[in-house]
Amino acid sequence: MLNLEELRQAVRGEVQLNYNLAKFSSFRIGGNADVFVSPKDKADVLSALKFFEKVKLPYLVLGRGSNVLISDKGICGAVISLRENLEKINLKAENGTALVYVEAGADLPALAADMLKKGYGGLENLSGIPGSVGGAILMNAGAYGKEIFEVIESVEVIRCGEIKTLRREEVAYRYRGTDLENDIILSCTLRLKKLSAEEQKVAMENRKMWMEKRRNSQPLTLPNAGSIFKNPPPDENGNPRFTGALIEACGLKGKRIGDAQISEKHANFIVNLGNAKASDVIALIELTRAEVKRKFGVNLELEIKLLGKFD
Ligand SMILES: Cc1cc2nc3c(=O)[nH]c(=O)nc-3n(C[C@H](O)[C@H](O)[C@H](O)COP(=O)(O)OP(=O)(O)OC[C@H]3O[C@@H](n4cnc5c(N)ncnc54)[C@H](O)[C@@H]3O)c2cc1C
Repeated sequence: MLNLEELRQAVRGEVQLNYNLAKFSSFRIGGNADVFVSPKDKADVLSALKFFEKVKLPYLVLGRGSNVLISDKGICGAVISLRENLEKINLKAENGTALVYVEAGADLPALAADMLKKGYGGLENLSGIPGSVGGAILMNAGAYGKEIFEVIESVEVIRCGEIKTLRREEVAYRYRGTDLENDIILSCTLRLKKLSAEEQKVAMENRKMWMEKRRNSQPLTLPNAGSIFKNPPPDENGNPRFTGALIEACGLKGKRIGDAQISEKHANFIVNLGNAKASDVIALIELTRAEVKRKFGVNLELEIKLLGKFD
């Protein structure tokens, strides 16, 4: 049995019980977390984690909730939210580059825009990825030919109850994944390039073009969680394959179950038309997987993370 007083003594940040999570997910879907905490700083994250381990309460971390589907039944255990307080950024200029310390809850698009304005390049391809820096590191988020690990120097994590700094070479990262799944990412240090005035101008134009491309190809006005599935590996001739095109070729664009719909704009996105349930999204995911397998023999792998209990 959780002792709320003890939890409030252990964690200095906000503590809530039976807290609804829908507003913490870009899908605007999800039930309640038994316990929700928003630690004040990195030390507070460690205290929360030690408390949950002591009372044997399972926990998970939530960034900006832009890559998750939270169960209608909610989450048994605790959710540690990093988006409210872990947002410090510190830039140190160094011989034509900058070493940028960033806490895990910082907003990636805001960081990318700010760095470019200051004349540092390397994040502009990732400008439209609407998540936290911690979430981006966990997923090795990427766009337009770049992944976040290309600019990572080191990552600070809680691993086995201790705070550790891992150099980039110590992390196994791949397309939309890393081996940090069992860690809590607290911060990272990025190395960004100092741009000449001309390079900065080109980078700004590129950023604008990529943002425009997103607006034209993604359903940004409806709640969604980005690409539902990863792209499959290239075909036997080495040609890249795109999940959106495979789903579209199955005739599934616009397919609706409850208030969840395979986007008419981009077939690898599912949108929430109003009151979609996680179960509606799951039904569309299962239908899509079955159709793509039947028509193309391709097994689609989820890119989004399912949080909580699913049948
Ligand atoms: C419109 C739209 C467009 C998108 N475009 C792209 C794109 O181009 N490229 C791309 O890669 N992604 C894209 N995404 C997906 C998503 O934005 C990214 O994966 C993002 O990096 C997730 O960050 P987050 O903070 O929202 O993570 P969350 O959704 O909060 O969490 C995702 C996973 O990471 C874990 N996690 C989060 N923070 C931490 C932490 N500090 N420590 C340990 N674990 C943590 C969570 O437990 C969860 O398992 C898009 C999403 C949307 C909605």
